[in-house]
Amino acid sequence: MVHSNCHTHTVFCDGKNTPEEMVRAAAEKGFACLGFSFHCPMTPDAVWTIRPKKIGDYTAEIRRLQQVYADRIEILHGVELDRDYCGVDPDSFDYTIASVHQLTKGDEHFDVDDTAETLRTCCERFYGGDWCALAADYYDRLSRFVIDVQPTVVGHYDLIEKFNEHGALFDSLDPRYLTVAKAHIDRILAHCPDVLFEVNTGAMYRCGKAQPYPAAPLLRYLREAGAKVIVTSDSHNTDSLDFAFATALAAIRAAGFTEVYELRRQNGKAVARPTAV
Ligand SMILES: [Zn+2]
Ligand SMILES: [Zn+2]
Repeated sequence: MVHSNCHTHTVFCDGKNTPEEMVRAAAEKGFACLGFSFHCPMTPDAVWTIRPKKIGDYTAEIRRLQQVYADRIEILHGVELDRDYCGVDPDSFDYTIASVHQLTKGDEHFDVDDTAETLRTCCERFYGGDWCALAADYYDRLSRFVIDVQPTVVGHYDLIEKFNEHGALFDSLDPRYLTVAKAHIDRILAHCPDVLFEVNTGAMYRCGKAQPYPAAPLLRYLREAGAKVIVTSDSHNTDSLDFAFATALAAIRAAGFTEVYELRRQNGKAVARPTAV
């Protein structure tokens, strides 16, 4: 079993609980390590990100909790960076998650994980209704960003699948789609062979998706390509800290992986440790 989660949000961005409530809940669940990964500020501003003037308080609070709970649980101070992040130095964190949440053209932008309708409108407006073109643009932005920032973790690789249960928006088994999604896995691994791809159960908790990101064909491809994976729940409250971890581990095993990584704290730094699955 996995006893850690490096992808969590708190009231400092769009989460529901304080960092201390999250720490207590994680300790009660028997977690060995909890990582905090607030949404960093972006240009243009997005409402779900931390307010820049709060970053100092937030960092101080995470560092305080590291001290107070040192004998009960390891705590890591991370960040979820988006492509258009601003106001933070990635090197100042214990670890980083690189994610893309928006597609932009000029001054116009759409969140890809807000609602199905928003994503549909985005596809019409930017790509003339061509979902493969949307996917190609999304994966291109994500892989470029990952190569640029060299993060610890790649966030929710196929986030554009969030509202695509039963192919509601596009055919994710279409070879054209899979070719694009796999090519960008190759591109990332060519530059960042040790990066961890998260197997993220966040949308299972928040909108009833049956399986975590990435979808099974991409998870199998990650294994074939020699990628490393880590389980997270992209948790925004204490109830979802280890939500559906058993399902995520089953998907990882079904894809043929023999180990999964966890982020742990060692000498004040985050280290990726493998465990057998
Ligand atoms: Zn995210
Ligand atoms: Zn997140």
